[in-house]
Amino acid sequence: MEQPIAVTRQSFDDWMVPVYAPADFILVRGEGSQVWDQQGKSYIDFAGGIAVNALGHAHPVVTAALVEQAGKLWHLGNGYTNEPVLRLAKQLIDATFADKVFFCNSGAEANEAALKLARKRALDQGNSSKNQIVAFNNAFHGRTLFTVSAGGQPKYSKDFAPLPGGITHTPFNDLAAAAEVINDHTCAVIVEPIQGEGGVLPADPAFLQGLRELCDRHDAVLIFDEVQTGMGRTGELYAYTHYGVVPDVLTTAKALGCGFPIGAMLTTDELAKTLGVGTHGTTYGGNPLATAVAGAVFSIINTPEVLEGVKQRHQWFLDGLNKINQQYPIFSEIRGGGLLIGCQLTQDYAGKAKQITQLANEEGVIALIAGPDVVRFTPSLIIPEQDVKEGLARFARAVARICS
Ligand SMILES: *Cc1c(COP(=O)(O)O)cnc(C)c1O
Repeated sequence: MEQPIAVTRQSFDDWMVPVYAPADFILVRGEGSQVWDQQGKSYIDFAGGIAVNALGHAHPVVTAALVEQAGKLWHLGNGYTNEPVLRLAKQLIDATFADKVFFCNSGAEANEAALKLARKRALDQGNSSKNQIVAFNNAFHGRTLFTVSAGGQPKYSKDFAPLPGGITHTPFNDLAAAAEVINDHTCAVIVEPIQGEGGVLPADPAFLQGLRELCDRHDAVLIFDEVQTGMGRTGELYAYTHYGVVPDVLTTAKALGCGFPIGAMLTTDELAKTLGVGTHGTTYGGNPLATAVAGAVFSIINTPEVLEGVKQRHQWFLDGLNKINQQYPIFSEIRGGGLLIGCQLTQDYAGKAKQITQLANEEGVIALIAGPDVVRFTPSLIIPEQDVKEGLARFARAVARICS
């Protein structure tokens, strides 16, 4: 056997297109909520691959589902359907408002499908001027050209002009501003129930209710981007149920495959008709390997045990973070829902989120940022109490260092 190629963190700089600036160590193994690097150092994982590894690393049931399917059938192409995809569709439909599902490979692709659906629906109705999309400042919907344009962070889109047109942004949680731009030319409104990348900012219930009413009044498609909030992250399967506001289209990805790439767009029978045969598609979408994994993931997450457990764990984090903040007051607010938690840094520590997560790495815990002023935690939904305690103890040491 040939030896594997020797790789170090330097190899990244040597060989990779530099769109990322990864940490200066390489993780090689994970189990539950712990990961280990090339040197054998252990870390408690409070990031979960950015809200992806919702059942931690190497979950035995998910691994078994992957291995079983890997020995059976990986891929067919969409000229042939398969059993795992149909089962997963039924699981999603039974658990949500949706009647129909479209599978793809990422959150961006799910949103891309949703936005295309809304444009085509209006056109099919014979209304060629009903093509306007309303989105919100600070939103994040993915990195394709359409979704990066729908996102409300110009830093991600400005270098790629000309951008798709017909997209208007208004301030998040400002219903009056939204009401000014939503009209009969609006084909879709896209919103995250909790803005994740934008800083862990929950929508006000009245804001989402108001968007629902505006979309109804103007016959626009209400799209909830639940790529980050979905699959149990907030303690409900999807966050829309917390709000009691039902969208027309819901997009999900990230935790759906717990690390195996998969995304989905959920919608109603009526809207699904818009995307008839040949109007949209993707090679890998709904392939048996991805959907077998997601089916196993779904069966575990969509249980009272796991969903209730998220609420319990939310409290463990809040208690621990509040205690840290009493000793070293660096957070002006701790917010979010379930296990999507954002800690806003005070003025004194503004811009230091990245530095705090780097110190956290040194202390043996992995945390995320959500913009320069927010430290974010999106751990496994089943992280054991011992790991929460140990991870927070390590995080406290990082905070102590930034304060000294
Ligand atoms: C991560 C994310 C996306 C993009 O998902 P990808 O799988 O990276 O394409 C879209 N919307 C939200 C809310 C996200 O958090």
